[in-house]
Amino acid sequence: MNCFPLLYKDSLLYDIISRYRRMNGIISTKALVKDLYGKEVTLTSIYFPPHISGIVSNLPYTSKITEDIIIKNHTMYPFYTAFLSPDKSKEIYDAMSVSNGHSFFNKVGICSSQIRMNKYLKFCPICFKEDMKKYGESYWRRLHQIPGVFYCLEHECELLDSDVTPINCRVQYSCAYEETCVDIGENKIINPRFKELNLQLIRQVNYLLRNDVERKELDFIIDFYIDRLRDRGLTASSGAIYMKEFQREFVNFYSHEYLQLLQSDIDIEKEYNWLRVFIRHNGKNRNPLRHLLLLQFLGVEVKHLFQCKQVIGKRKVNHIPIPKLDRDEMREKWIQIIKDNPDATRSELKKIAKGIHTWIYKHDREWYEQVSPAPKKKKEKSNLINWEKRDAECLVLVKKAVEQLLNQEGKPVRICKSTIRRKLGFNTWFNNKKLVKTHEYIEKVKEDIESYRIRKIKWAINEMLEKEMTITTYKIQLYAGFGGINKDEVKNFILEQLGLQY
Ligand SMILES: [Zn+2]
Repeated sequence: MNCFPLLYKDSLLYDIISRYRRMNGIISTKALVKDLYGKEVTLTSIYFPPHISGIVSNLPYTSKITEDIIIKNHTMYPFYTAFLSPDKSKEIYDAMSVSNGHSFFNKVGICSSQIRMNKYLKFCPICFKEDMKKYGESYWRRLHQIPGVFYCLEHECELLDSDVTPINCRVQYSCAYEETCVDIGENKIINPRFKELNLQLIRQVNYLLRNDVERKELDFIIDFYIDRLRDRGLTASSGAIYMKEFQREFVNFYSHEYLQLLQSDIDIEKEYNWLRVFIRHNGKNRNPLRHLLLLQFLGVEVKHLFQCKQVIGKRKVNHIPIPKLDRDEMREKWIQIIKDNPDATRSELKKIAKGIHTWIYKHDREWYEQVSPAPKKKKEKSNLINWEKRDAECLVLVKKAVEQLLNQEGKPVRICKSTIRRKLGFNTWFNNKKLVKTHEYIEKVKEDIESYRIRKIKWAINEMLEKEMTITTYKIQLYAGFGGINKDEVKNFILEQLGLQY
């Protein structure tokens, strides 16, 4: 290789290769692979690309890029191996460096943990614009591709789906063009509490991506969790964990809805839900995202786990009798608080009298369970909404929004649920299935990618004619925002629109 693209901060190796391809105008993937690796290899994963030593040895003589730089700064390695033992991490590192890489995919716990990777590569619309201004191109960021990451950490806006799908078993290399970065999917719209939780989580993900943490053995990590559960008063003096209570608090902290978004909901009644199994010493791989969920629930930043030097784990605590005087005083106070707030739920009482609650919860648990109000299930708020009425109102607004979108000045915006929703500034409830007529209408008017392309091309031609610009297929392509790539499909569309035979 005589040249190599810039390694942008946090870009995926996949992205670097895509830009290399564009730079050199290589069309066939086979030729591209040969160019990069010097031989034919099969690439099946864009997150854990193998044969990295092959690329490095092929780089120009003066290049300062090493395998280490690529693996640690431009692949998912630091995130997906962070919670693995030093030996396992090393094994995966070596596999990515030299081997053909089929075997290690399972070892990182992606397959076993039931958290699927994203269907499409994601991007932040603001980063995209800024990149275009700064570099004249954009790129795929690692952080945005981790499942469960829904926001851009820098701009705190929702990430959008591109139309590039990373799960083709044979990797196709596509750059982050304007054409690929249209929001085609439905967004996971998130309420303010979810956003706050999610941003906290993303900061932890980012920490793992940026820091090659000193790896720990799994048993150490589990003992660390048990220690923190003990700090929270969630273990009995025998050393056993109050499993029911632990799970209940976990669900209360996150809500089922949020856990579902992260593909990590639990059914407390099930003996083998992931959370129960998670704190057992069983040697199985766990998805890093779930480690982070548990840490966030425990109120611990991930770096503190890796900085910790000593753990205790399960142990029997010698019973220290509570001074009777303290206990009676606390009980009296707690009873008074319950009386003063007859309608309050457990968690509301906890908020009102945090100190007393913590004390009793830790030292006088059985009594606490007897006197406190029973844990309540949250009322379904959605039952209070008159959906039929809302549906009718929505339909009117949506029709208007579609009309406005179609008539607005400037580059056409694709008509789909998410653009309509954004135009109206609506929240999660907009996706509710009870808005039957509204959704039926959207289904009818939404644009597939083909019609959207045609509309963009027509718009570009008109604009260019008005401005008396010279018209070529290539120029139309650029003007409509399809990038400089020579896509036959797009070219044919343009020719059709120009009324030419081909
Ligand atoms: Zn951004």
